[in-house]
Amino acid sequence: MLRLLCLLLCWLPCALGAQDALRVAVLHPLLGELAQRLGGEEVQVLPLYSGAGDLHDFAPGTAELAAAAQAPLLLACGKGLEPYLEDLRRSLPETTRIVELGATLPDVCLPGTTVADPHWWNSPAQVRRAARVMLGELCRQRPERAAAFTERFRALSTELDALHREAALRLAAIPPEQRVLVTGHAAFCHWCADFGFRPVAVYGVAHESEGDAASLAALLAELRRAGARCLFTEAYEEDRGMVALAQQLGAGTQALIADGISPEHPGYADIFRRNVQAVCDGLADGKEGAQP
Ligand SMILES: [Zn+2]
Repeated sequence: MLRLLCLLLCWLPCALGAQDALRVAVLHPLLGELAQRLGGEEVQVLPLYSGAGDLHDFAPGTAELAAAAQAPLLLACGKGLEPYLEDLRRSLPETTRIVELGATLPDVCLPGTTVADPHWWNSPAQVRRAARVMLGELCRQRPERAAAFTERFRALSTELDALHREAALRLAAIPPEQRVLVTGHAAFCHWCADFGFRPVAVYGVAHESEGDAASLAALLAELRRAGARCLFTEAYEEDRGMVALAQQLGAGTQALIADGISPEHPGYADIFRRNVQAVCDGLADGKEGAQP
């Protein structure tokens, strides 16, 4: 394993060419998008996770380790999303600085638990905070380019603030008693905190409640009390359990992009807007949630 890694380390610089760009390895496509926005041509993003397969099941293999070893900076989401991070740290040379962006952000826990939701990217405010930390890291690596990075950060920051305001305006159509966001896994606690919703997660943070009949019965009673009119499944995933639950409640369903990855919507703003639209379609007054 170590020998293979050494071989790859010798080979990769030739393969990549003598580029001067700062190599930034990322463990989520959004982190790559942000690094590219801030760094422009000064940054070469090395995506370690392609977006294929479940984000929660991903772990880097030999090829990803070799790519990461070429980067002086590796960006992780943090907040427990990457349980392999300590192993990764031990496998990489000291020259690769690993930054867990989530560790710099306020926690938001699923109500009634002490489990922090790691999906901070569903909040534009959290993304802006993460981008500020990322800015500091890029400036640390390339201090001579700090002015350009900072200028790009300001532009990004303005866009993220506008995205938040736009969503708040649209979501104002949803009456307070309908502001319950029932999802599969707990991926929208940060989003709910931003926009005044109560998150309910059928499967917990990482599907730990899946298949628990007693929890499901209690949840069904809670959702009936709350008058949930729409349940939110995950885009690109068939979830018969959630659809069956919605049918039992007489509620509709809408799909959300929980993990920030979409082949149809490659940019953060598009994904975020699509989610806001789905919540409005499901919960806004005068509209019925789409039937499953
Ligand atoms: Zn997730």
